[in-house]
Amino acid sequence: MKSLDEYLTLAAATHGHICPGQVLGVRMAMLGLRELGMDDPARFRARLVTFVEIDRCAADAVSLVTGCRLGKRSLKFMDYGKVAATFADLETRRAVRVVAREDSRLRAKRMFAELGDEHRRQLEAYKALPDAELFMIQPVRVHLKPEDLPGRPGARVVCEACGETVNDARERRSHGRILCRSCAGEGYYEVMEG
Ligand SMILES: [Zn+2]
Ligand SMILES: [Zn+2]
Repeated sequence: MKSLDEYLTLAAATHGHICPGQVLGVRMAMLGLRELGMDDPARFRARLVTFVEIDRCAADAVSLVTGCRLGKRSLKFMDYGKVAATFADLETRRAVRVVAREDSRLRAKRMFAELGDEHRRQLEAYKALPDAELFMIQPVRVHLKPEDLPGRPGARVVCEACGETVNDARERRSHGRILCRSCAGEGYYEVMEG
């Protein structure tokens, strides 16, 4: 595992800036991996799945440290709006969830009171505070369905309404028809006329 500073340099380069969320994300991932005994993320990459609970700065940092990515199915986005992530070892079945403590903001405020603006205060404090004051960590059990695992694509069907292909058992079955989620009424878009 690289050092905090090394990860932060990399994070700044890939994410475009350095920010308190990135510091939290990097430290959160380092803590989770250490807790699972995965001191060298590259070596354990094939058996690690990470769930991030927010789609903000911290998520990029978690992905950077773990090497888990959306396109590899090893990064799962759970839309909870929480600065939290779960790290799951597919081999041992062990998993830990790390969540940023609510009172860490307050600690950050007090810690570098001499630094004027809040952004810098948070940035420095999140680097300096011990893990126990930044995060809560809990052992959890994660239920990963076979169709959610990394690896070769599984089943593939064609939606009977729109004709588009649906991979990995994401189809819906209703009244004897096979439909994609959009045609089954779960769409996030409407097709415009013309
Ligand atoms: Zn950021
Ligand atoms: Zn469809």
